[in-house]
Amino acid sequence: MVVIKNEKVLSPEYLPEILPHRETQIQQIADNLKPAAFNRTPQNMFIYGGPGIGKTACIKYVFREFEKFSDKIKTIYINTWDYNTSTAVLNKIIISLGYPMPRRGLSKDEMIEKLVELLKKNKGIIICLDEVDQLVRKDQKALYDLLRLNQYVDVPIGLVFISNYHDVFVNLEERIRSSLDIEEIEFKSYSLNEMKDIISERVKDAFSSVENGVVLLVANYATNKKDVRAGLEVLRKSARLAEDDEKLRVKHVKEILKNISGNIKEKIIKSKLGIIEKNILEILKNEKDITSTQLNEKYNNLFGKISQPTFRKYIKHLEDLKLIQIKTSRENTRGNKFFIRLV
Ligand code: ADP
Ligand code: MG
Repeated sequence: MVVIKNEKVLSPEYLPEILPHRETQIQQIADNLKPAAFNRTPQNMFIYGGPGIGKTACIKYVFREFEKFSDKIKTIYINTWDYNTSTAVLNKIIISLGYPMPRRGLSKDEMIEKLVELLKKNKGIIICLDEVDQLVRKDQKALYDLLRLNQYVDVPIGLVFISNYHDVFVNLEERIRSSLDIEEIEFKSYSLNEMKDIISERVKDAFSSVENGVVLLVANYATNKKDVRAGLEVLRKSARLAEDDEKLRVKHVKEILKNISGNIKEKIIKSKLGIIEKNILEILKNEKDITSTQLNEKYNNLFGKISQPTFRKYIKHLEDLKLIQIKTSRENTRGNKFFIRLV
């Protein structure tokens, strides 16, 4: 019994046919870039807003439409996590323009020369630098190199920068910042109703049959997280639970959400622990049933001595938080033994 029609629809890289509730932004981006198709200078842009709210999806959507309907604009998408220096970015652009790089590599001047030569053969070019904070952090001159390309060729060149952080350009050198000339587009997180539409579209494409209530449950979770990706992840995990069922059901989703909130609770508790308690948990990860005396000795060897009474206080605290279990046994004639293990 297969509930999943198409698993790839749930992957974060999948670009859907439509992006509900981003129509305005898509139109705005397209309008700003369109002049490039008519030999006019496009408007450079800076798209910003939290993670998982469709920034990358929108630019890829616009690029896909341009490539589909016009041969007058060439689009190049670069994520600067992968290309975080000026030479890496220039290299990527040159390759995208169809030039096979010589193995010895080119110096930066040679690269710019080559690029100018290639650009002249093209019509309009749009370059997107996604997660641009990485590039700004490592090599902000890369922006300068790109902004200067316009001076060498008549071909319209548009730049789109994307980041989760609004202040990414604040500390740029003045000469770079002043030549940026960007229109800012803010992406806000989705409301519950918007999220319901988005999740519902994905669910329709991904599953053959879905119980009422699933969409609301997932959308609610994703809205709280302010992240569509989080919702897609819940769907992917729930789908695995639903493998032998004929429907993706509310109970599958609830089961996954329960585990997630359990993990979150655990993380919160652990973040409140002191270093000694964290060290104790670290030791227990590799032990099955260790006596409290052994544990204390092990601790002293690994992390430095603490007295038995103090040690017991920490153990008690961990037990109160339900992170460890303490069992007693009377087998030993010398008295009680305490066995400790992680819960
Ligand atoms: P960002 O770049 O803002 O971090 P993404 O564009 O990568 O976020 O979006 C995260 C995931 O959510 C992607 O799988 C994307 O397809 C999906 N997504 C975001 N917004 C929408 C939308 N309006 N409609 C459909 N899917 C969306
Ligand atoms: Mg992104």
